[in-house]
Amino acid sequence: MNHYTQEEWLAYIQDELSEDRRTILEDHLYSCDQCLHVYLEQLNYVSDTLPMLSEEEQNVVPIETKKMPFYQHSIFHYTVAAAITFLLLTSGMFHSMIGFASNIEESTVQNREEAVSKNVMNKALSFLELIERKHKEEK
Ligand SMILES: [Zn+2]
Repeated sequence: MNHYTQEEWLAYIQDELSEDRRTILEDHLYSCDQCLHVYLEQLNYVSDTLPMLSEEEQNVVPIETKKMPFYQHSIFHYTVAAAITFLLLTSGMFHSMIGFASNIEESTVQNREEAVSKNVMNKALSFLELIERKHKEEK
């Protein structure tokens, strides 16, 4: 069995490996006590020397738009859109929005709800586009 070096485990912990490599090391970790020991040692070393999960780090998780470089990523948009949709669906807004969708009043309840869901999703997406535009203008 091929074992891995301290440096490799360190790179694994610090997420510096390619996805393939990471999977290989992970698999090895499950089946090798010796490397698990090295890995835990490195993990200890890292958490002692780097403020990885300190309060400082947690405070950086931003509400302020200026500290959000990941803001432009589409996955982020999707997550926010899903979150907004979820909030709208669980709040009373979902029901009040049925009032806005009066032009589809004659369709079946099921169709109406589907259309309202799309409406909510569209609103969430245009809301995102709006803040993105504002964000770009601020630059
Ligand atoms: Zn090993």
